[in-house]
Amino acid sequence: MTLTVFHSGTHAAAPAGVTSALAVRDGRIIALGDDAHALCPAADQLVDLGGGHLGPAFGDGHAHPLFGGLEDDGPQVRACRSVEAIVACVREWAAAHPDAAWIIGASYDSTLAADGLFDAAWLDAVVPDRPVVLRAMDYHTVWANSAALAAAGITAATPEPALGRIVRRADGSPLGTLQEPGAVDLVMDHAPAIADAVRAAALGRATARFAAAGVTWVQDAWVETADLGPYLLAAGRGLLNARLNLAFRADPLRWRGQLAGFAAARERVRELDSPMLGARTVKFFVDGVIESGTAAMLEPYCDTPGDTGLANWDAESLNAAAIEVDRRGFQLHLHAIGDRAVRLALDAIAAVQAVNGPADRRPVIAHLQVVNPADLERFAALGVIANFEPLWAQPDDLMNHLTLPRLGKLRAHQQYPIGTLIRAGVTVSFGSDWPVTHHHPLNGLATAITRSTPDGLPSGGWVPAERIDVADALHAYTAGVAAQAFADHDRGTLAVGLAADLVWLSADPRGLDARSLPDVRVLGTWLEGRRTHAAEPALLAATT
Ligand SMILES: [Zn+2]
Repeated sequence: MTLTVFHSGTHAAAPAGVTSALAVRDGRIIALGDDAHALCPAADQLVDLGGGHLGPAFGDGHAHPLFGGLEDDGPQVRACRSVEAIVACVREWAAAHPDAAWIIGASYDSTLAADGLFDAAWLDAVVPDRPVVLRAMDYHTVWANSAALAAAGITAATPEPALGRIVRRADGSPLGTLQEPGAVDLVMDHAPAIADAVRAAALGRATARFAAAGVTWVQDAWVETADLGPYLLAAGRGLLNARLNLAFRADPLRWRGQLAGFAAARERVRELDSPMLGARTVKFFVDGVIESGTAAMLEPYCDTPGDTGLANWDAESLNAAAIEVDRRGFQLHLHAIGDRAVRLALDAIAAVQAVNGPADRRPVIAHLQVVNPADLERFAALGVIANFEPLWAQPDDLMNHLTLPRLGKLRAHQQYPIGTLIRAGVTVSFGSDWPVTHHHPLNGLATAITRSTPDGLPSGGWVPAERIDVADALHAYTAGVAAQAFADHDRGTLAVGLAADLVWLSADPRGLDARSLPDVRVLGTWLEGRRTHAAEPALLAATT
């Protein structure tokens, strides 16, 4: 019956600027304000917030912890600012790891080569004798050297795969850039398997990184049932520092055969009975990404007339798969970037409701880069959770060089309609898509509010009508994600009776200029009263 009282700071249940207290017993919030203060003499632990702020812990509505954790194990090309720098990094890593049969690294910045096209020959120059595969930051694209292409048997004679693109030279031979899972898997299926223990350790590191950012729940948005082992191992050994909910990926070409496997995998997770691991969701990649021209658009891309991109699902099979997945009690999580993909996703959710009848489903459409104005009002009507990655809503290099030239002016302003959907009463949840973009909610908060680059450009915000205020942005990272997780009765706000999922920040975000939010420090994180992060060991020792 441990009683902890947090005091001498602001908290999210009180108005900004009001110093107050909060009491926790056995993982639950039991008192707020004066009632909590009165419990100080009886407390087993007193946590002096030092003028900081206590809020509900953040959630991440869409991320890839396993991919992110594994990035630590290969060449670290993320910070490289040129093709030469990436190649040099690979050369160094290869020299330091002469026994690695394959060199697998992540993630490179696609804007560093014209049109995002990377040549196998550039990697061959430093590693001619072993396969090298680097993932792009979008995780929909890889850059492979000639040894990797050869290991996978990809030549000029290889037909185009279903649901993927082999970028080719004029003579038909593969350039070295492979787009979307259908092409990426041609190579990755030949890479040596990574041991479960190595992947479980990666999950431990990844969730520790989330805990250090104040996050206690993460939607793992892409899990193959064959990869369940590392998750069970990590949860069973107590390695997870944030809760994970798994989304199994439905494959457009073999989804009917996957259904029994999804249910069996969910059953194995249930049997483990860990509060840190759930598996209630199925993921659909409705389309790809705009930068590769693989997002499905209603009208052609501006730079490739006649080309409307690549929908991975036709409407009929997407509807049928969504209905069957829903019938088995899974939540839908649909990746939709282009406006045609968004419409397909909305249509599928409508079909599920029409066929399977009313239920508390909380279907998620993730990313929502371009939404046709005619579809905006359907989100509230269908009860869709709109999941955005707010860091994407800024005019950075990716947007300026690879996105805007493809979309043209009109569609450029239809991107990430966060403000419009919140004003329409839609539940919005935020996420990072880490390692695609930075995992820290404070960075995402700042961008959602300003819609400008870290340099403050443009000054009034990009598509400023879609800017939101700090209260709505915090809500999307807390209560919005909790609703997505079917946990809003238990988390996402500070109230008596709710789980003590808490984040201790160095300052109250509600009183700050949004541009300074990324400077706020996460001093502590608690998951149902258990501390999962302490900024400094000294703080931990003083307060627990
Ligand atoms: Zn993702």
